[in-house]
Amino acid sequence: MAFTYDHIIIGAGASGSHLALAMLSDPYFEDKDVLIIERSEKKENDKTWSFWEDGSGKWDDIIYKQWRYANVFGHQKEIKIDLETLRYKMLRSVDFYAHARHQLKKAKPFTYVTEKVVQVKEVQNLVEVITDDHQYKAKHVFDSRLPDINKIKQGNATTILQHFRGFFLKTDKATFDPERFTMMDYRLKDEDCTSFTYVLPIDEHRALVEFTYFTPKTVDQDRYDDHIDQYLKEYLGDPNYKVEEIEQGIIPMSTYDFSQHHSQRITKIGTAGGWVKASSGYSFKFCERKSARIVDNIKQDRPMTQGLKKAKYKRYDKIFIDVLYHQNHYGETIFYKLYSKNKTRLLLDFLDERTSFMQDLKIINSLRSFYFIKAFFKTLFG
Ligand SMILES: Cc1cc2nc3c(=O)[nH]c(=O)nc-3n(C[C@H](O)[C@H](O)[C@H](O)COP(=O)(O)OP(=O)(O)OC[C@H]3O[C@@H](n4cnc5c(N)ncnc54)[C@H](O)[C@@H]3O)c2cc1C
Repeated sequence: MAFTYDHIIIGAGASGSHLALAMLSDPYFEDKDVLIIERSEKKENDKTWSFWEDGSGKWDDIIYKQWRYANVFGHQKEIKIDLETLRYKMLRSVDFYAHARHQLKKAKPFTYVTEKVVQVKEVQNLVEVITDDHQYKAKHVFDSRLPDINKIKQGNATTILQHFRGFFLKTDKATFDPERFTMMDYRLKDEDCTSFTYVLPIDEHRALVEFTYFTPKTVDQDRYDDHIDQYLKEYLGDPNYKVEEIEQGIIPMSTYDFSQHHSQRITKIGTAGGWVKASSGYSFKFCERKSARIVDNIKQDRPMTQGLKKAKYKRYDKIFIDVLYHQNHYGETIFYKLYSKNKTRLLLDFLDERTSFMQDLKIINSLRSFYFIKAFFKTLFG
């Protein structure tokens, strides 16, 4: 009879690696058998994660760069932000994958294989995972494979795509302030839609400069590149520059019910489990926190997904996504008000889903929008 694992984790990206590392750091899993199946070598920097946290953190040894200061530009005005004790941190995915692989490959309960999963099915009380090379069995499977994006866009869900393309570039003259990153710059937009530039400066000559959209549809590659070029010309002193790396991606910001893909023995994790914050597209820290919660659920013999999602934030995200979908031009105003009318700490706590009801009211009120306030009360009591 084939060996049966306690857990199989499909995918060693952000969520799979976070979950495996959370298991690794808990003695409860010392006598368990966990198999991680990842289809690719993960030796390339396929994305750059940024996130905020208070002071020092778990990943500081592999953090590439961090900032205390930021700015947000509206059409007319710059908002200067001091994060005080918070830090905005940049982590190259290739460093995270290498760190996770190194830890997991030397730990006894874990087996790490590079294979592609082609089928997952429940057979009696177990789950069978079939790869292009082998057949495995487990009592429980965590699966980070994403359903087709078109499937997410179908049905009743409202879906905005956060889509972007950026350059890690090097300029011939001093161009950037390495102490201050640009969270959102709305001075240059693509027509009237929610689109902005994001700048993460490494030093005076090097930065990641990205042009980002929050819109229902993607655009041609040239549109991102032309905007980056124009931004450098108009707002950064027109330096000569060399592109050293390209980063691009699409993150679904959706009200789609990802929970429909869970079953008693299969739990979807990461973007596939709805772990991306629908109104911001951030998920790195959510992957960390939700993985810790799953580990706790396993230890306490609770349902795997218990406590992973807070209903009120799901409702707030829905209001936000609906507005962006139906009145996409409104994005700049929303974000500008959020950053200019609130203490940054409060706003980031809100995006982190750590606020009280009174704090939520403060945030909603800061939008000074009858539409938002009405929608807010409607989702609460409607
Ligand atoms: C370019 C980009 C930049 C981002 N930047 C940020 C950011 O700055 N901050 C932030 O918080 N969030 C960011 N995100 C959003 C989110 O954090 C990431 O998408 C994150 O990687 C999601 O984690 P995940 O585990 O769901 O997916 P992934 O990290 O993509 O992991 C899924 C893994 O499953 C593997 N896999 C897929 N199919 C199979 C199969 N059949 N068999 C075996 N393995 C399989 C894949 O190879 C992959 O390694 C970004 C997303 C993108 C695309």
